[in-house]
Amino acid sequence: MAGEFRALILEQTDGKQMAAVKSVGREALPPGDVTVRVAYSTVNYKDGLAVTGKGKIVRSFPFIPGIDFSGTVEESSHPDYKAGDEVVLNGWGVGERHHGGYAQLARVKGDWLVKRPKGLDAKQAMAIGTAGYTAMLAVMALEDHGVKPGASEVLVTGAAGGVGSVAVAILARLGHKVAALTGRPEQGDYLKGLGAATIIARADLEKPGKPLEAERWAGAVDSVGGQILVNVLAGTRYGGSVAACGLAASNALPGTVLPFILRGVNLLGIDSVMCPKPRRQAAWDRLARDLPQDKLGAMTETRPLGDVPALAEAILKGAVRGRMVIDVNA
Ligand code: NDP
Repeated sequence: MAGEFRALILEQTDGKQMAAVKSVGREALPPGDVTVRVAYSTVNYKDGLAVTGKGKIVRSFPFIPGIDFSGTVEESSHPDYKAGDEVVLNGWGVGERHHGGYAQLARVKGDWLVKRPKGLDAKQAMAIGTAGYTAMLAVMALEDHGVKPGASEVLVTGAAGGVGSVAVAILARLGHKVAALTGRPEQGDYLKGLGAATIIARADLEKPGKPLEAERWAGAVDSVGGQILVNVLAGTRYGGSVAACGLAASNALPGTVLPFILRGVNLLGIDSVMCPKPRRQAAWDRLARDLPQDKLGAMTETRPLGDVPALAEAILKGAVRGRMVIDVNA
């Protein structure tokens, strides 16, 4: 029917959450000053939590999840956007509190959008998605704290995941010697293909260790948290920095302050959701420049909208490799 569009709808009955692709009318769109014809979305870890209901991310139903999308402006009353503009959205509670990107149409606040950087098409922008943009924010934070390419290694944890894969590729491109920590040894060749010099088994850093270990890492991008993050801090070199952006293992931090007060180690918090617009745009512009497109292609698979529920389950089990792009029109 004219004006209808396809969307993945989350509904809740008797406390049980269900997800299904349905046709809905435009009246389902929330308020906002820009309407976007969505081309692609992605599956990030937070989408996994939202779509399965395991993370208590979505609290009002029916709801369209999807924390990011790329597409073309269809209608706008925002001064910065006009019909035909190519845009990217991630964060600001979209796909959590405000209907998101798992739909052919989305309506949002223009202030939340960024212009799609030149050099990235709509599919590449979502191959990067929230995970890749967060990896860039983490790399920028390490740079701001003086981590420069050199003799010492930079560690990436959760390396075969979305944030991890993009972080490995960017850091290697920038000239860092990258060590990739993974629980999936069979992904070693994949990670070396993205630029990792060394593969480290997750088991090596999973058990409680000493408060201070031999100084190894100049810096690290951590997407897993918990004991692994504590062990990474314990093995970080004097004055080094660790960018913490995730909790795929745990949201706990069961460690000591010794790396901070005896080695001047910096623990840098990374938040992508409310990150101010200038830094957001800077990260996207750098992704267009510093993330080799062949590596991005090697870490990306494209799937139709109807595959989202299964992929949401898979990403929470750590079973998704690299990045999953969702073609919302397929
Ligand atoms: P993925 O699932 O793609 O990657 C997570 C990776 O972590 C897995 O692939 C796996 O890598 C590793 N992992 C999974 N389970 C465990 C475990 N129990 N112990 C140790 N390692 C584990 O998710 P994303 O890359 O999309 O997101 C990664 C994290 O970053 C999530 O926690 C997410 O919420 C967070 N995030 C935070 C953002 C922010 O704004 N701060 C924005 C985006 C993401 P391997 O198999 O290689 O070991």
